[in-house]
Amino acid sequence: MTIQEAAERIRAGELVAFPTETVYGLGANALDAKAVARIYEMKGRPEESPLIVHVASIDMAQTLVTEWPSEADALARRYWPGPLTLVLPKVSAIPNIVTAGLPTVGIRVPNHPLALALIREAGVPIAAPSANRFMGLSPTTAEHVREAFGDAVPVVDGGPCQVGIESTVVSIIGGELKLLRPGMISLNDVGLGGVPPAGAGHPAPGMHLRHYSPRTPLVLSTQPEPLGAYVWINSPAKAVRSIHMPDGADAYAARLYSVLHELDREGWPAIYVEPPPETVEWAAVRDRLQRASTT
Ligand code: AMP
Ligand code: MG
Repeated sequence: MTIQEAAERIRAGELVAFPTETVYGLGANALDAKAVARIYEMKGRPEESPLIVHVASIDMAQTLVTEWPSEADALARRYWPGPLTLVLPKVSAIPNIVTAGLPTVGIRVPNHPLALALIREAGVPIAAPSANRFMGLSPTTAEHVREAFGDAVPVVDGGPCQVGIESTVVSIIGGELKLLRPGMISLNDVGLGGVPPAGAGHPAPGMHLRHYSPRTPLVLSTQPEPLGAYVWINSPAKAVRSIHMPDGADAYAARLYSVLHELDREGWPAIYVEPPPETVEWAAVRDRLQRASTT
């Protein structure tokens, strides 16, 4: 579907799936409560899980918040467009359903020409979670979106996502920065330092422990059972199906969901994944794998 058609649907209160650099989003007009309600329905997502609002510029972001502290300004200028979501106090024009009743809203400028064109053409901010059913694997291609929703949602096809996992989420409330979800922009990048403990619970609503999961059981281990599939970086092992992943976190993240979608379709009894290194660059990948794993 073209950007013009997609923008018309957004303005008409309907849903459109579109590419961003992180994952494909299931978008609706963020200022239209009824349209946003359709997102929750389509995903089967509980309404206590807030959505990220996508805008095309810092100026547009500022119209949606009651405070724009210097910390937010510095991070936005450095990383937008990019995979960083800032959580700030919201204006009342953003319906409560967007933020799951919270007084704050998560906002970002996606680094994808089609996403930016869609927001500009629609002329409204677009609320969008990942375009998958609740708790499932996030889509990184238009095909993944079609597998989840069939014809129920039109998709703007932008090819495979370049970053491949969801944005880093940072809240800035009362001058205090807090990491709510790790992403490929790391804690060091946002000036928070340190390595978050693997799989630590985040104080963000909607961060269900099991999330981002394939249907197939996923196990973090370098000891694959013979009949399972094995996703490895440095430690080869005998398995009927194995995939050798890149040893750089960025390249690994860009491929991860695609590989899990593929192995899921193939129907193995289990997917074994070699645990990635314990360094800060791998924090987001470790977080997603931990959430996807059954162990
Ligand atoms: P998703 O749309 O599935 O990528 O998830 C969006 C995530 O962003 C949520 O699960 C929260 O972790 C975070 N988020 C969005 N808005 C807020 C908010 N107002 N307060 C805290 N976290 C938020
Ligand atoms: Mg999601």
